[in-house]
Amino acid sequence: GLEALAVSAWFGDHKVLQQVSLRMPAGEVTALIGPSGCGKSTFLRILNRMHELVPSATLSGEVLLDGEDVYAPGRRLTDARRRIGMVFQKPNPFPAMSIYDNVTAGLKLTGVRTGRGERDLLVEECLTKAGLWKEVRDRLRQPGGALSGGQQQRLCIARSLAVRPQVLLMDEPCSALDPTSTRRIEETIRELADEVTIVIVTHNMQQAQRVSDRCAFFLAAQGTPGGIVEHGPTGAMFDAPQDQRTADYVNGRF
Ligand code: ATP
Ligand code: MG
Repeated sequence: GLEALAVSAWFGDHKVLQQVSLRMPAGEVTALIGPSGCGKSTFLRILNRMHELVPSATLSGEVLLDGEDVYAPGRRLTDARRRIGMVFQKPNPFPAMSIYDNVTAGLKLTGVRTGRGERDLLVEECLTKAGLWKEVRDRLRQPGGALSGGQQQRLCIARSLAVRPQVLLMDEPCSALDPTSTRRIEETIRELADEVTIVIVTHNMQQAQRVSDRCAFFLAAQGTPGGIVEHGPTGAMFDAPQDQRTADYVNGRF
Protein backbone atom coordinates (compact mmCIF):
# COMPACT_ATOMS: atom_id res chain seq x y z
CA GLY A 1 0.00 0.00 0.00
CA LEU A 2 0.79 3.67 0.01
CA GLU A 3 1.34 5.83 3.06
CA ALA A 4 1.78 9.58 3.53
CA LEU A 5 3.52 10.72 6.70
CA ALA A 6 3.23 14.32 7.89
CA VAL A 7 3.11 15.74 4.38
CA SER A 8 3.08 19.53 4.14
CA ALA A 9 3.21 21.43 0.86
CA TRP A 10 3.84 24.94 -0.38
CA PHE A 11 3.61 26.93 -3.59
CA GLY A 12 6.22 29.60 -3.02
CA ASP A 13 5.50 30.79 0.52
CA HIS A 14 1.81 29.85 0.32
CA LYS A 15 1.32 26.75 2.45
CA VAL A 16 -1.47 24.59 1.05
CA LEU A 17 -1.19 21.32 3.03
CA GLN A 18 -0.46 20.93 6.72
CA GLN A 19 0.83 17.65 8.19
CA VAL A 20 -1.24 15.19 6.20
CA SER A 21 -0.81 11.56 7.24
CA LEU A 22 -2.85 8.84 5.56
CA ARG A 23 -2.59 5.11 4.97
CA MET A 24 -3.97 3.93 1.63
CA PRO A 25 -3.91 0.13 1.95
CA ALA A 26 -3.33 -2.25 -0.95
CA GLY A 27 -6.46 -3.98 -2.17
CA GLU A 28 -8.63 -1.03 -1.19
CA VAL A 29 -10.06 2.07 -2.77
CA THR A 30 -9.43 5.26 -0.81
CA ALA A 31 -11.59 8.29 -1.62
CA LEU A 32 -10.39 11.83 -0.93
CA ILE A 33 -13.28 14.19 -0.40
CA GLY A 34 -13.56 17.83 0.60
CA PRO A 35 -14.38 21.30 -0.70
CA SER A 36 -12.68 22.97 -3.64
CA GLY A 37 -9.19 24.32 -2.92
CA CYS A 38 -8.47 22.19 0.16
CA GLY A 39 -5.47 20.49 -1.47
CA LYS A 40 -6.78 17.12 -2.70
CA SER A 41 -5.19 17.39 -6.14
CA THR A 42 -1.98 18.72 -4.65
CA PHE A 43 -1.88 15.74 -2.29
CA LEU A 44 -2.40 13.30 -5.20
CA ARG A 45 0.35 14.96 -7.17
CA ILE A 46 2.70 14.65 -4.23
CA LEU A 47 2.02 10.91 -4.09
CA ASN A 48 3.50 10.28 -7.54
CA ARG A 49 6.01 13.13 -7.60
CA MET A 50 4.15 15.32 -10.06
CA HIS A 51 4.11 18.13 -7.49
CA GLU A 52 7.77 18.83 -8.14
CA LEU A 53 7.00 19.68 -11.78
CA VAL A 54 5.76 23.08 -10.57
CA PRO A 55 8.87 25.23 -10.11
CA SER A 56 7.62 27.03 -7.00
CA ALA A 57 6.39 23.82 -5.31
CA THR A 58 8.06 22.38 -2.22
CA LEU A 59 7.08 19.82 0.40
CA SER A 60 8.08 18.13 3.60
CA GLY A 61 7.16 14.74 5.01
CA GLU A 62 7.36 11.28 3.50
CA VAL A 63 5.54 9.11 1.00
CA LEU A 64 6.07 5.37 1.38
CA LEU A 65 5.18 2.79 -1.25
CA ASP A 66 5.25 -0.65 0.37
CA GLY A 67 7.43 0.91 3.04
CA GLU A 68 9.94 2.44 0.60
CA ASP A 69 10.39 6.21 0.42
CA VAL A 70 9.18 7.43 -2.98
CA TYR A 71 11.34 10.55 -2.49
CA ALA A 72 14.50 8.75 -1.37
CA PRO A 73 17.63 10.33 -2.88
CA GLY A 74 18.78 8.28 -5.85
CA ARG A 75 15.30 6.93 -6.50
CA ARG A 76 14.41 7.67 -10.08
CA LEU A 77 11.48 9.91 -10.86
CA THR A 78 10.38 7.69 -13.76
CA ASP A 79 10.29 4.72 -11.39
CA ALA A 80 7.88 6.50 -9.06
CA ARG A 81 5.69 7.58 -11.98
CA ARG A 82 5.62 4.07 -13.44
CA ARG A 83 4.69 2.46 -10.15
CA ILE A 84 2.10 5.13 -9.34
CA GLY A 85 -0.13 5.98 -12.31
CA MET A 86 -2.52 8.89 -12.65
CA VAL A 87 -5.85 9.42 -14.41
CA PHE A 88 -7.12 12.99 -14.72
CA GLN A 89 -10.48 14.73 -14.69
CA LYS A 90 -10.39 15.48 -18.39
CA PRO A 91 -9.69 12.40 -20.52
CA ASN A 92 -6.33 13.02 -22.20
CA PRO A 93 -5.52 10.27 -24.67
CA PHE A 94 -3.10 11.19 -27.48
CA PRO A 95 -5.88 12.13 -29.93
CA ALA A 96 -4.07 11.45 -33.21
CA MET A 97 -2.45 8.24 -32.00
CA SER A 98 -4.24 4.93 -32.55
CA ILE A 99 -6.15 3.27 -29.72
CA TYR A 100 -3.55 0.51 -29.75
CA ASP A 101 -0.61 2.90 -29.57
CA ASN A 102 -2.29 4.90 -26.80
CA VAL A 103 -2.34 1.79 -24.62
CA THR A 104 1.33 1.01 -25.25
CA ALA A 105 2.51 4.63 -25.12
CA GLY A 106 3.81 4.37 -21.57
CA LEU A 107 6.02 1.39 -22.29
CA LYS A 108 8.55 3.39 -24.30
CA LEU A 109 8.53 6.23 -21.81
CA THR A 110 9.39 3.90 -18.97
CA GLY A 111 11.92 1.91 -21.00
CA VAL A 112 10.01 -1.41 -21.04
CA ARG A 113 10.94 -3.50 -24.09
CA THR A 114 8.35 -5.90 -25.49
CA GLY A 115 7.79 -7.95 -28.66
CA ARG A 116 4.80 -7.52 -30.92
CA GLY A 117 2.91 -10.60 -29.71
CA GLU A 118 3.43 -9.62 -26.11
CA ARG A 119 2.18 -6.12 -26.84
CA ASP A 120 -0.95 -7.47 -28.55
CA LEU A 121 -1.77 -9.50 -25.46
CA LEU A 122 -1.07 -6.58 -23.17
CA VAL A 123 -3.34 -4.26 -25.19
CA GLU A 124 -6.20 -6.78 -24.99
CA GLU A 125 -5.62 -7.36 -21.29
CA CYS A 126 -5.53 -3.67 -20.38
CA LEU A 127 -8.50 -2.71 -22.55
CA THR A 128 -10.45 -5.60 -21.03
CA LYS A 129 -9.62 -4.48 -17.50
CA ALA A 130 -10.64 -0.94 -18.39
CA GLY A 131 -13.97 -2.28 -19.73
CA LEU A 132 -13.33 -1.08 -23.27
CA TRP A 133 -12.15 -4.15 -25.20
CA LYS A 134 -15.48 -5.25 -26.68
CA GLU A 135 -16.18 -1.77 -28.01
CA VAL A 136 -12.82 -1.24 -29.69
CA ARG A 137 -11.42 -4.67 -30.59
CA ASP A 138 -12.30 -4.16 -34.26
CA ARG A 139 -11.00 -0.59 -34.45
CA LEU A 140 -7.67 -0.61 -32.65
CA ARG A 141 -6.05 1.39 -35.48
CA GLN A 142 -8.51 4.26 -35.21
CA PRO A 143 -7.35 7.39 -33.44
CA GLY A 144 -7.95 7.71 -29.71
CA GLY A 145 -9.58 11.07 -30.35
CA ALA A 146 -12.39 9.37 -32.29
CA LEU A 147 -13.78 7.78 -29.12
CA SER A 148 -16.52 9.25 -26.92
CA GLY A 149 -15.52 11.02 -23.71
CA GLY A 150 -16.32 8.00 -21.56
CA GLN A 151 -14.46 5.69 -23.90
CA GLN A 152 -11.47 8.06 -23.91
CA GLN A 153 -11.38 7.96 -20.12
CA ARG A 154 -11.42 4.15 -20.17
CA LEU A 155 -8.62 4.29 -22.76
CA CYS A 156 -6.63 6.45 -20.35
CA ILE A 157 -7.18 3.87 -17.62
CA ALA A 158 -5.96 1.13 -19.99
CA ARG A 159 -2.90 3.23 -20.82
CA SER A 160 -2.15 3.65 -17.12
CA LEU A 161 -2.45 -0.08 -16.51
CA ALA A 162 -0.06 -1.05 -19.32
CA VAL A 163 3.04 -0.24 -17.28
CA ARG A 164 1.69 -2.41 -14.42
CA PRO A 165 1.45 0.22 -11.71
CA GLN A 166 1.00 -0.72 -8.06
CA VAL A 167 -1.11 2.35 -7.44
CA LEU A 168 -3.61 4.25 -9.59
CA LEU A 169 -4.42 7.83 -8.61
CA MET A 170 -7.63 9.22 -10.08
CA ASP A 171 -8.44 12.91 -9.84
CA GLU A 172 -12.19 13.34 -10.39
CA PRO A 173 -12.09 10.78 -13.23
CA CYS A 174 -15.84 10.89 -13.88
CA SER A 175 -16.71 14.54 -13.44
CA ALA A 176 -16.57 15.23 -17.19
CA LEU A 177 -18.64 12.14 -18.02
CA ASP A 178 -22.30 11.15 -18.42
CA PRO A 179 -23.99 8.90 -15.82
CA THR A 180 -23.65 5.73 -17.89
CA SER A 181 -19.93 6.20 -18.48
CA THR A 182 -19.53 7.09 -14.82
CA ARG A 183 -21.14 3.81 -13.76
CA ARG A 184 -18.93 1.83 -16.10
CA ILE A 185 -15.80 3.45 -14.71
CA GLU A 186 -17.00 2.85 -11.16
CA GLU A 187 -17.39 -0.86 -12.00
CA THR A 188 -13.89 -0.86 -13.45
CA ILE A 189 -12.51 0.76 -10.30
CA ARG A 190 -14.08 -1.92 -8.12
CA GLU A 191 -12.71 -4.69 -10.33
CA LEU A 192 -9.22 -3.20 -10.41
CA ALA A 193 -9.05 -2.73 -6.66
CA ASP A 194 -7.97 -6.33 -6.07
CA GLU A 195 -4.73 -5.80 -7.95
CA VAL A 196 -4.08 -2.06 -7.87
CA THR A 197 -4.23 0.28 -4.88
CA ILE A 198 -6.63 3.05 -5.89
CA VAL A 199 -6.90 6.60 -4.58
CA ILE A 200 -9.74 8.62 -6.07
CA VAL A 201 -10.69 12.26 -5.59
CA THR A 202 -14.39 12.85 -5.99
CA HIS A 203 -16.93 15.58 -5.30
CA ASN A 204 -19.72 13.05 -5.70
CA MET A 205 -20.70 11.67 -2.30
CA GLN A 206 -22.75 8.84 -3.81
CA GLN A 207 -19.75 7.86 -5.86
CA ALA A 208 -17.49 7.89 -2.80
CA GLN A 209 -19.94 5.54 -1.09
CA ARG A 210 -20.25 3.27 -4.12
CA VAL A 211 -16.57 2.83 -4.90
CA SER A 212 -14.48 3.40 -1.79
CA ASP A 213 -13.53 1.28 1.18
CA ARG A 214 -12.01 4.19 3.07
CA CYS A 215 -12.48 7.95 2.96
CA ALA A 216 -10.42 10.94 4.00
CA PHE A 217 -12.14 14.30 4.45
CA PHE A 218 -9.88 17.24 3.61
CA LEU A 219 -10.66 20.76 4.70
CA ALA A 220 -8.89 24.11 4.57
CA ALA A 221 -10.35 26.55 7.07
CA GLN A 222 -10.39 30.16 5.88
CA GLY A 223 -6.82 31.26 5.21
CA THR A 224 -5.20 28.08 6.57
CA PRO A 225 -3.60 25.16 4.72
CA GLY A 226 -5.61 22.04 3.98
CA GLY A 227 -5.53 19.02 6.24
CA ILE A 228 -7.45 15.85 7.01
CA VAL A 229 -10.31 16.39 9.46
CA GLU A 230 -11.28 12.75 9.62
CA HIS A 231 -10.59 9.49 7.85
CA GLY A 232 -11.77 5.93 8.20
CA PRO A 233 -13.96 3.22 6.67
CA THR A 234 -16.43 4.74 4.22
CA GLY A 235 -19.50 3.36 5.99
CA ALA A 236 -18.51 4.99 9.27
CA MET A 237 -17.60 8.29 7.62
CA PHE A 238 -21.08 8.60 6.15
CA ASP A 239 -23.22 6.94 8.82
CA ALA A 240 -21.42 8.01 11.97
CA PRO A 241 -18.97 10.85 11.31
CA GLN A 242 -16.96 11.84 14.38
CA ASP A 243 -16.56 15.49 13.47
CA GLN A 244 -19.44 17.89 12.91
CA ARG A 245 -17.68 19.36 9.86
CA THR A 246 -17.53 15.92 8.25
CA ALA A 247 -21.22 15.38 8.99
CA ASP A 248 -22.04 18.72 7.41
CA TYR A 249 -19.94 18.04 4.33
CA VAL A 250 -21.14 14.52 3.57
CA ASN A 251 -24.73 15.66 4.02
CA GLY A 252 -24.29 18.51 1.56
CA ARG A 253 -24.48 21.31 4.10
CA PHE A 254 -21.24 23.03 3.03
P1 ATP B 1 -10.67 21.21 -6.38
O1 ATP B 1 -11.67 20.38 -5.61
O2 ATP B 1 -11.26 22.51 -6.81
O3 ATP B 1 -10.00 20.45 -7.48
P2 ATP B 1 -8.37 20.75 -4.66
O4 ATP B 1 -8.80 20.28 -3.32
O5 ATP B 1 -7.92 19.75 -5.64
O6 ATP B 1 -9.55 21.62 -5.29
P3 ATP B 1 -5.78 21.98 -5.11
O7 ATP B 1 -5.91 22.10 -6.57
O8 ATP B 1 -4.88 20.95 -4.57
O9 ATP B 1 -7.23 21.84 -4.42
O10 ATP B 1 -5.34 23.41 -4.56
C1 ATP B 1 -4.97 23.63 -3.21
C2 ATP B 1 -4.40 25.03 -3.08
O11 ATP B 1 -3.17 25.10 -3.79
C3 ATP B 1 -5.29 26.12 -3.65
O12 ATP B 1 -5.19 27.24 -2.79
C4 ATP B 1 -4.65 26.42 -4.98
O13 ATP B 1 -4.86 27.75 -5.35
C5 ATP B 1 -3.19 26.16 -4.72
N1 ATP B 1 -2.48 25.71 -5.95
C6 ATP B 1 -2.74 24.58 -6.65
N2 ATP B 1 -1.91 24.46 -7.71
C7 ATP B 1 -1.10 25.54 -7.68
C8 ATP B 1 -0.02 26.01 -8.50
N3 ATP B 1 0.39 25.33 -9.57
N4 ATP B 1 0.56 27.17 -8.16
C9 ATP B 1 0.15 27.88 -7.08
N5 ATP B 1 -0.84 27.49 -6.27
C10 ATP B 1 -1.47 26.35 -6.56
MG1 MG C 1 -8.55 19.17 -7.53
